[in-house]
Amino acid sequence: MKRFRQYRTNAAVRDKYADIHLNAQDFIYPYFVEEGEGNVTPIPTMPGINRYTPDTLLDDVKETLELGINKILLFGVIPTSEKDEQGSAAYSDHSLIVRTIKTLKEKYPALIIITDVCLCEYTNHGHCGLLHDHDVDNDTTLPLLAEMAYQHALAGADFVAPSAMMDGQVEAIRKKLNETPSLKTKILAYSAKYASAFYGPFRDAAESTPSFGDRKSYQMDFRTRNQGLEEIAADLEEGADWTMVKPAMPYLDIIARGKEQFPDIPMVSYQVSGEYAMLKAAAQAQFLDEPRVVYESLIAIKRAGADYIITYYAKEWLKKWNQ
Ligand SMILES: [Zn+2]
Repeated sequence: MKRFRQYRTNAAVRDKYADIHLNAQDFIYPYFVEEGEGNVTPIPTMPGINRYTPDTLLDDVKETLELGINKILLFGVIPTSEKDEQGSAAYSDHSLIVRTIKTLKEKYPALIIITDVCLCEYTNHGHCGLLHDHDVDNDTTLPLLAEMAYQHALAGADFVAPSAMMDGQVEAIRKKLNETPSLKTKILAYSAKYASAFYGPFRDAAESTPSFGDRKSYQMDFRTRNQGLEEIAADLEEGADWTMVKPAMPYLDIIARGKEQFPDIPMVSYQVSGEYAMLKAAAQAQFLDEPRVVYESLIAIKRAGADYIITYYAKEWLKKWNQ
């Protein structure tokens, strides 16, 4: 008989054998930025999460840094009146995100800024690329994503994170960035991004619900075992520096297999809005003990193989529960 219970005798013994731990450096904190001044707008489907204008964002990032989180992910939210068919506001050289990066970098030069690169928050139809006959056209979208990434890089982004799930998007961005060798911006590819119902609350936050159809013709079908790994391999070949699996909890197998296959590539996973909302709602209904289920969920993502976790819980975790 093997005496496993010797590892669990009391809290100190359990702590000694625990080999997965969470640190502030593991977290990437997502932010929604909107135009305007002085506003902090709560997102109803994501209790505790807000949209910030560039000035209020500065204050919140100060607190984020003080908690030890040094990596943030930026999403832009623009007024409907500024959206158009081509998502022009996404790739202009004075876009909301370009201005936000500059403001942040001026105040916090050590902050690592990752920017989402996709058109869906900027197109009036809410799809991630250009439309052609009611279909999202892959190849004409690529130069626009590349230009968007390039503008973010010029403004000072440390990472650009293409999330449109267009084929060849990483290569298009890599080529564009390479035209200016002084740019040190890296690519964090949303490689295995599944067409997930867990994105629901995010679309409220970013006002990016498609006006027709869905994203299943470009985001991945979750009924596939190996496509996620093929997507990761292709992105790395195209020049991605880091890779991502999104969402996290329903895709722990993909995180684990991705990390096993590419052990030297930093693996990021995104605990998405729906995962957050689900835990929040269960906690509010007092069905679950929030700190404990959050801890268990984040540890599971790290144990599966994620080096970094994008989570809306990062600040709350560090502020209230991490002891
Ligand atoms: Zn998109």
